[in-house]
Amino acid sequence: MMNPNDVNFVSHNALTEAQSTPFQSKLYINGCFCEGSSGELSSRYSPAFGHLVGQYAQANEADALTAIDAARKAFDSGVWSDKTGAERSNILLKIADGIESQLEEFALLESMETGKPLQQAQDEIVGSIDIWRYAATLARNLHGDTYHNLGSNKVGMTVREPLGVVSCITPWNFPFLILSQKLPFALAAGCTAIVKPAELTSGTTIKLAMILESAGVPAGVVNILIGSGRTLGAPMATDPRVDMVTFTGSTSVGQRVAAQASQSMKKISMELGGKNPQIIMPDCDWEAAVDAVVFGVYFNAGECCNSGSRVLVHESIADDFLAAVVEKSKLVKVGNPLADGVRVGPMIHEGHLDEVLGYIAKAEEQGDNLLLGGQRIEHDTGLYLAPTIIRSANSGNVICHEEIFGPVLTALTFTDLDEAIAIANSTEFGLSASIWSKDIDNCLTASKKIQAGTVWINTFMDGFPELPFGGYKQSGLGRELGRLSVEEYTEIKTIQMHIGERTAMWVSSADPS
Ligand code: NAD
Repeated sequence: MMNPNDVNFVSHNALTEAQSTPFQSKLYINGCFCEGSSGELSSRYSPAFGHLVGQYAQANEADALTAIDAARKAFDSGVWSDKTGAERSNILLKIADGIESQLEEFALLESMETGKPLQQAQDEIVGSIDIWRYAATLARNLHGDTYHNLGSNKVGMTVREPLGVVSCITPWNFPFLILSQKLPFALAAGCTAIVKPAELTSGTTIKLAMILESAGVPAGVVNILIGSGRTLGAPMATDPRVDMVTFTGSTSVGQRVAAQASQSMKKISMELGGKNPQIIMPDCDWEAAVDAVVFGVYFNAGECCNSGSRVLVHESIADDFLAAVVEKSKLVKVGNPLADGVRVGPMIHEGHLDEVLGYIAKAEEQGDNLLLGGQRIEHDTGLYLAPTIIRSANSGNVICHEEIFGPVLTALTFTDLDEAIAIANSTEFGLSASIWSKDIDNCLTASKKIQAGTVWINTFMDGFPELPFGGYKQSGLGRELGRLSVEEYTEIKTIQMHIGERTAMWVSSADPS
């Protein structure tokens, strides 16, 4: 345990009534808010303050089947898929307006359930609104191709049809942002959906349901289930009435979901884990690179698939650079998520904090060098872990290649860019990476050779709805966001046409007898 005075810890205030009133919610199936058929409720307590944040009706398998049935019938009826792109676009824009009108409530609930700083939660809701608006533009731009080069009597065309019913399964770390990377694009394409947020952070997803109907989304088009992944995941991934599963979460659960979905050849989209390197060259912009390393690893308490959890530093500057990262890390404010300037809140739950501490212990056992932190901060209600930096001499050690999902930076050194790229590529993951250098050759060489879905040059963790996001290797399958993301939720149909009289017969009376 660390003394809070040994870190930049901001203590808690008493909560106001608005901050401490629990959110109550039902399931949302076929346009109705309903209790789960088991009658059970789950409760979420704040990982920062310990108070009851929300109580949720729990769905069981029977509820999942009802939701799937509603989504299937809504899709087959054409009530959504037959709308014009313009109509769907206008509804998506209204949903964005509805979220915006409740921005503060969404952000507070998200902050209370996850423990993330309130200001960060607000930024994420604003970012999510922007994604809904971006998806609305794509609803009007979905189109196929035509082919006039097939001969004078042939024309071909491809049309993009909505894929059908989509199961969306989301994690706890960015509950509303990740939902917004999936659902508006599925809706823009004309699909219907069953959505299952993570058990611990269902609040903002179900809050969205309250906006859908008034924005004009017909009953059954979006159905929201709350409950256990194990119970609800199986029907959502295997039911023959579902056409696609889009999943964001851990690689291990993703593998299970993909295996289940493949039994009926559903389309799958997977956004999974990462062990993302930031490469620091001697000619980097020092201040900016130090700041990006600190931001990269502590943002969202490191519970971030895109976390810059590995820093690879050129050996000639490693000691000084890491000393600067340690000093800046000491400035990071940890603690009360509602206080101004706090950057790092608590970990999501006790079990996860223990796992992260287990990784730190393993690193020390393997001879890695703890430069900062490494311990829980002594505090009565919170699950706070001190910002932690570990220098490793061996890129084969566990801390260097497994996703830790906490505020824990692993530092390694390299002698030249080739070695840095080899270390960067030496994990099973390939989500994102960055390089810091003023030399364009270094930057472009790294960006071409690193196996990752996103490479940042002299920046880190920027994101725009316009740019696709996803992983190489075991970080995932498919892409979210970007112009083509809406196409992930479509099937291509080829239509071939013959013009005029058919002369070439397969069988003719003139054939030799
Ligand atoms: P998780 O895999 O435990 O859970 C994700 C979702 O899957 C939750 O809704 C959970 O209820 C559900 N689930 C659990 N068991 C299931 C099963 N058997 N069948 C179907 N669904 C099941 O992940 P998490 O702990 O919520 O989130 C952390 C992980 O998510 C990390 O590995 C992180 O890297 C990853 N992540 C990836 C991205 C990305 O875009 N690549 C983004 C955020 C998080």
